[in-house]
Amino acid sequence: MAFSYFSAKEVGEGIFQITNGIFDDTLPTFCYLVLGEKAAMLVDSMYGVGSLKEFCETLTDKPIIHVATHFHGDHTGGSYEFSEFYMSPKDFESFYAGMGRSGGNAMRTAKRRTLPEYQDQLREQDMIEPKEVRLHPIFEGDLIDLGGKQIEVIEVPGHTAGEIVLLDRKARCLYSGDTCNTNTLLQLDPKCCVAEYIENLRKLNGYRSAFDTLFNGHDIQNATIIDEGIELCEKILRHEDAHLPVTSFSGTASLAAQRIGNTMNRVDGKRFNAVYNDDRIFRAADGIHTITV
Ligand SMILES: [Zn+2]
Repeated sequence: MAFSYFSAKEVGEGIFQITNGIFDDTLPTFCYLVLGEKAAMLVDSMYGVGSLKEFCETLTDKPIIHVATHFHGDHTGGSYEFSEFYMSPKDFESFYAGMGRSGGNAMRTAKRRTLPEYQDQLREQDMIEPKEVRLHPIFEGDLIDLGGKQIEVIEVPGHTAGEIVLLDRKARCLYSGDTCNTNTLLQLDPKCCVAEYIENLRKLNGYRSAFDTLFNGHDIQNATIIDEGIELCEKILRHEDAHLPVTSFSGTASLAAQRIGNTMNRVDGKRFNAVYNDDRIFRAADGIHTITV
């Protein structure tokens, strides 16, 4: 079979989960191509390893609307291939700041993550590097009309200030990036706090009659993981969580809300976990103030 940077699996009617099939399985990363009658929507774009645009065009001949759930490089690395795409404006500044730093990133990621048997197939010219791209702002309540199905935007800040999920009522699912998963990183964006994140999860639960599944950037989860997220984050607020010291991949000291086993799974069998910073549990306005004289 011809070498391909990508593989796809149909996880729902007209919903393709795409991954870099040549990578090891240390951190599976996915994006989703959702087909409508008039247009297709690509949610996130992974690392920029290989031409995702060309791969998507083997799955659909409809025009592709590209949306990013948030600005992180494992969700927007391939976005530069598209002349324009949609993202929350609350993540624009961080996205542009990252652009300046990410030259050569795609090839570095490819070399680090690709299985030995495919290493000699990696070609520099296949990597997607940052370039100017037209970003369109997208807001809570916006509808993306694919023809035969409309996708609804819901803002769920926490992992980043501009994190959004996309509700597909017809398929009863969310395309949800890194919003709520087994390792929800709440320590990365200084504009976010745990108290606000809980409010956003509660808001998201208000839509629960409309979806059963979360198609996340790194896994697929039953919607009940949101209940676990609210439960565990409430424990963080009461200081009743495990508050286990961890060093996040960015090198900073943070806390994990639940104990994890060898496989990063919770030892109590539940799925949701969060990493957070002690000084960003509460909003500044309702948090703990240090009073000095
Ligand atoms: Zn992320």
